[in-house]
Amino acid sequence: MTKTDALQLVRYLCWRSKVDEPSEVTWTTRAVRGCYTMPIHRKLPRGRIACGPRAWISPEAQILHEVAHHICAMRSPKRQLTRRERRESRGLHVYGKVVHGPWFTETLIELAEHWHGDVTAYPWKDEYAGVAKWADRVLTQ
Ligand SMILES: [Zn+2]
Repeated sequence: MTKTDALQLVRYLCWRSKVDEPSEVTWTTRAVRGCYTMPIHRKLPRGRIACGPRAWISPEAQILHEVAHHICAMRSPKRQLTRRERRESRGLHVYGKVVHGPWFTETLIELAEHWHGDVTAYPWKDEYAGVAKWADRVLTQ
């Protein structure tokens, strides 16, 4: 995968999920874990995704994962919530930190559907344990 492929994938996933693209996409060999910077900085009103060819999972899966964070952030009505409500909103936003709750996993399932056409094609077994467990629960219902 090249940077151009990565940008195209981000664009495609955002378009399919009807959200604006992140403010920045950084393609770097340092992004082994991948990273999503929440849109809490004035310079990054729509957040930033860092991804790269050395992804712990495949670069493609890493991008699906980080775009899922972006979509959660864009869809969250967090600006209308109090801090306490935000903290309690299903574990999504805890003062700008990213976590991997049920809402995140459901979004990742949606993206896997968009991209692979088959959610089981996503490498769930390589995901964080919590994500893999929740996905398993949703997908085997
Ligand atoms: Zn994550």
